[in-house]
Parts: sequence; C-alpha cells; structure tokens
Amino acid sequence: MDNKKREWLEHSKKVLVGGVNSPVRAFRSVDCAPVIATKGEGALLYDFDGTPYIDYVMSYGPLIFGHSPDFVVKELIAAAQKGTTFGFTCPQEVELADRILAAYPGAEMIRMVNSGTEATMSAIRAARAYTGRAKIVKFEGHYHGHSDGLLVKSGSGLLSHGVPTSEGLPPGAADATMVAAYNDLPGLEAIFAEHEGEIAAVIMEPVAGNMGVLPPAAGFLEQVREITREKGALLIFDEGITGFRLGYHSAAGYFGVEPDMMTLGKIIGGGLPVGAYGGKADVMAKVSPLGPVYQGGTLSGNPLAMTAGIAALDGLKKDPGIYDRLAAAASFLAAALSDSFGRYGIPATVSRIEGMFCVFFTKETVKSYADIMAADTGAYRRFFEGMARQQILLPPSQFEAWFSRRP
Ligand code: PLP
Repeated sequence: MDNKKREWLEHSKKVLVGGVNSPVRAFRSVDCAPVIATKGEGALLYDFDGTPYIDYVMSYGPLIFGHSPDFVVKELIAAAQKGTTFGFTCPQEVELADRILAAYPGAEMIRMVNSGTEATMSAIRAARAYTGRAKIVKFEGHYHGHSDGLLVKSGSGLLSHGVPTSEGLPPGAADATMVAAYNDLPGLEAIFAEHEGEIAAVIMEPVAGNMGVLPPAAGFLEQVREITREKGALLIFDEGITGFRLGYHSAAGYFGVEPDMMTLGKIIGGGLPVGAYGGKADVMAKVSPLGPVYQGGTLSGNPLAMTAGIAALDGLKKDPGIYDRLAAAASFLAAALSDSFGRYGIPATVSRIEGMFCVFFTKETVKSYADIMAADTGAYRRFFEGMARQQILLPPSQFEAWFSRRP
C-alpha cells in the first residue's frame, strides 16, 4: 500500500464510522487493508493506488453487465440532463414497473423504494395488514436488511423467539420474528403448529446468498409454498440477490414457485440505489394511498435509478443467451477451483447456482446453515489475501456470494 492510500484510509476513519458506510467494506473479517474504489470498468475495479482487480463482487450483485456499461451510462446522462429528482411521479417509474411485472410470475402491482432494507420492511408491514396477524418467520442465515424486526440472530432455536443480533433495539423488537432452519421442513411445520393462526408471512431468500451461496434442497421451496398456503400465511421471496440474476423471471420463474409477494433490489436499479416490493393486487392494495399501510419516500422512483433499471432489464431481454453465459463463466471458474483444491488436497467445496457461487473451506457437503458455520473462515481469509495479491478481488467475507458478470 502506498503512503497516499494509507493517509486516505486514516482520514476516512476519522470522518466515516470505521472508514465505511457499510460494515463489510472495512475488510475486518479478512484482516486486510480495504479497497477504496475509484473506478470500475467492465470486469475491473481500480483501487485508490491505481491497482486494477478482477472483480467478483460486482457491487454485491447489481452489476450483471460489469462496471459502468456504456448503454446504461448513455441513458443516465440523457436522463440527468432532464432532472435528477422531481418529487412527482415520472414516466420511468411506470415503465420499470411494467417490465418487472411482466417478468415476475404472479406479481400484479409494485412499489419502488430505495433499498432492499426498505423493501423487506415494507413488504412485511403490508403482509401483516393483509392477514391481520403479527408474527413472521425468517430462516437462519438469511439476510433481509437491517430493520429492527429482521435483525434476529441466525441459529436461534426453533420455536423460540428471536434474539436480536444488534444492540440499540427496543425491548421486544424481534419478539414477533420466529427463526426456522433453511431446508428443514419439519422445523417449519413445528413453528406453524405452535403458532397456529398467528403467522402473517414467511420471508426467505429462495437461494440463500448471505451466508455464502446455498441453493434450496430439492422440493423445499414447493413445501414452503404449500404450508404457507395451507396456513393462510403469505410467502415473501426476498429476491434482492436472485432477482433477474438466476434468470429473467427471477427465482420464482427459475424454480416454478410463485410467492404472494416479492422484494427486489440490486439488478433492477442497474447499479443505482433501488428496491421494490410487490405482489398480488389485493395485498398491495393495503399500501397507502390505496390502503391504510403507510410507506413513502422522497427519492422513491428516482428518475435516474429508474432509467438505469430500465436500461439494465432491456439489456437482459435483448440478450437471451446472457444467463447461459453468466452460468458458464461461473461454472468454468468453479470447476477450475475445485480441480485445484483437489490437486493440492485442500478441503474446500464450491457452491454454485447459475452466476452466483462461493467457496466454503470444508470437505463436507454443505447443506445447511450449521454446515456453513463449521467451515474454516481462517482458510477463507488466507485465500482472500492470496487472491488479492494476484489482483483478484473476492468478497471480503466468507458469507457473501461471488458473482459473474456478462462475459
Ligand atoms: N435482502 C437481500 C437478499 C440482500 O442480499 C440484501 C443486501 O445485500 C438486502 C435485502 C438489503 O438490501 P440493502 O443493502 O439494499 O438495504
């Protein structure tokens, strides 16, 4: 690291909390100096000192075309020249909504927000109003942003009330949040049996992407769909990562399982800050101004973010082979990594679905959150550092997904 970067890092720590605006960017779990991104171009991300890295983080998912694709940037410049925010509805909001609703199985109405956190928090509020019930179920290891009721310790025992993983929450903030084990139907059934008639919704990442990557066990999503329907609870797919990543019809289309509500972010903003929640019209009709559930946002439906989102979705639509190529790129790397780990006798497993993947340093097959927690995070730290020395940038945490971009 050169002196200029060292000085900049020191300065950033004086003015930003921990030098960052999102904790993972501090690189604490890999114990390295953080990257300070100054430029992104295609596959490359440039550090403050000019070092280019091959980037597998891709801003944690949004950059499906790589950094600053020309066709998105061109649209953004044109949109910015007409105004950066209006505080009134603009045509792009409707145009992006049209595209998302046409692509997302069963969704009839949508509300744009500014982040994934806002999307999940608001979806749950609507689900509670619709069902008249208070409790929700989430799965351990699934991340749905940082609203109070969703900051529940992963790994909490089944049937127990959630224990918040963050300080600063009012007492009882997570009492209505039940935690189930992912890929474990009997556990979920037991929660429903104990809280008969009380559960408003089950919220889940259809493919876990925030504990590393863990696809659902065969049939699990269908089983969750069945039990939620039977018990009168809504099923919310949080497609913050999987939306338009597993395929143009998101995880719902990919697995053929239609939730009652979905939340989206990342790719639908084409690299700008966006979130969205939507679902069946009768559920969404609970949201203000149609219904009694309040939720609004000064910058929601921002014309620049909507424009970038439209460009991104149109880019995906125009390139029907893109998902195969994203998967092929990830698969090529996954196979090469597996081969090398095997050759050198390193106990590691590559977990992949389409263009999202990661490496767990364990020789066991990874099927659950508990298996992931048993992986060797120290080995990941050493691997991260070795790869960074080769100018290959992986997520600075074992528990994040790696992403391929359009090759
Ligand atoms: N939901 C999922 C599945 C996510 O991956 C994330 C963030 O990574 C969120 C929600 C929260 O989104 P945001 O960081 O935009 O608040």
